[in-house]
Amino acid sequence: MDDLLMIPGPTQVPEAVRLAVSRQMINHRGPLFTTLYNEIQPRLRRLFGSRDDILIFPSAGTGVMESAIVNLFSPGDRVLACVMGEFGERFARIAEVFGLQVDRLVTEAGKACTAEMVAERLDAQPKGVYKGVLVTHNETSTAVTIELEAVAREVKGRGLLLAVDAVSSVGGIEVRCDEWGIDVLVTSSQKALMTPPGLGLVYVNPQAWPVVEGAKLPRFYWDYRKARASAAKSQTPYTPAVGLWFGLSVALRMIEDEGLAAVYRRHQVMGRAFRAGVGALGLRLLADESSASPVVTAVCVPEGLDGSAFIRELREKHRLVVAGGQGALSGKIFRVAHMGAVTGEQLIEALRIIGRALSGHGLAADPEAGAAAARNVLAGSTADTTRV
Ligand SMILES: *Cc1c(COP(=O)(O)O)cnc(C)c1O
Repeated sequence: MDDLLMIPGPTQVPEAVRLAVSRQMINHRGPLFTTLYNEIQPRLRRLFGSRDDILIFPSAGTGVMESAIVNLFSPGDRVLACVMGEFGERFARIAEVFGLQVDRLVTEAGKACTAEMVAERLDAQPKGVYKGVLVTHNETSTAVTIELEAVAREVKGRGLLLAVDAVSSVGGIEVRCDEWGIDVLVTSSQKALMTPPGLGLVYVNPQAWPVVEGAKLPRFYWDYRKARASAAKSQTPYTPAVGLWFGLSVALRMIEDEGLAAVYRRHQVMGRAFRAGVGALGLRLLADESSASPVVTAVCVPEGLDGSAFIRELREKHRLVVAGGQGALSGKIFRVAHMGAVTGEQLIEALRIIGRALSGHGLAADPEAGAAAARNVLAGSTADTTRV
C-alpha cells in the first residue's frame, strides 16, 4: 500500500489520471493533439471563468509566477505585494529580481490580507505610483485564503494591474477571472487539479493584452504573445508536456462530472471537518476560522514536541505524509492538505493517526474524538467526500 499522501502538492493522483499519463505519445503538431487541446480548453475556461483559452506551459508553479511578472511589467514599475507567507514572499522576490520596486504588505502568520488593508496601502500613495498588485489567493505556507473578489474590486477599482498566484486554489476554491477583472492568474497541475507536477496554467484577461504587448521586461520562453498565437491554432509554441495533458484532461472531466459547485462545497466541508478534528484533539490552528483555507490546514505543534521529529514519526511509523512549516514556521507547525483527490475517510484516518501519535507522546489527545468530530461535520453535510 502507498503512504497516505496529504501534503499540499504534489497531491494524490487518481488512478484514471495516472493511467492517462502513461499513454503512448502523439504528434503535438498533429490532429490528435488538436482533439486533446479542444477537449481540455472548454473545461479550463469554465474552471477559470474565462472566455479565452488558458495558456499551458511545461513548468512548476514558480515558473508561471515569473511569467506573470515578465508579461505585465516593465523595469522600475512599482507594485504592492501582499505577503502572508512564503509564497507571497516568493512572488515579491521574483518581481524584485526583475527590477521592479516592491512594497510589501506583510500580515502576521495565519492572518489574511484583506481588501481593506490593500485599499489603505494603495491610497497611502499618490495616484499613479503603483502599477499593480501581487497577491496569493491561497497562502499554502500558512493555510490562509483571501477574499479574492473583494481584493480584485479594490485593485481594479483603482485601475491597477492584478496578478494572482492561485497555485493551490484552482480546482479547490472558486475563481471567476473575467468577472472579477483579474489580469493574470496562474496555477499548476499538482495541487487541487489532481495531476502530476509539470504543468503551469495561465489565465490572461482579454483586456490585459495591450499591457502584455507594451511590457518591457525581457521574455522568451514565457512570452504570452507567442503562446496566444499558437493557441489560435490549438497548439503551444514549444513541445507541450503531452503526457500531463492526457492526465489533466481526465482530471478536468472528473471535476466537471462532479460539478464545480459540488467540488468547491466538498473542499469547504473537508476543511471544516479537518479543523473540527484538530480542535477535538486539543490542537491549535495557525489561521483564524474566518480565513482558514478549505484546501490545507496548518496545525501548531504543541509545546514540548519536536515538530520535525513528529512529522518524521508520522511518516515512518504511521505512513502518513504531511508537510512541515516553511521558513520561520519550520518546526512550529505541520500542514495537512485536503485538496483534490483526498477522501473523507482518509481525512478521518489522518486525524486518528495524529491523535495516536500525540498520545504516544503523553499528550491528552483522544484519537477517536478527533475522528468523530470530523465524521460529524462530514455526515452533517450533503457534500460527497467518498469519491475520487
Ligand atoms: C505550491 C505553490 C507554489 C509553487 O509551486 P511550485 O510548483 O513548487 O513552483 C506557489 N504558490 C503557491 C500558493 C503554492 O501553493
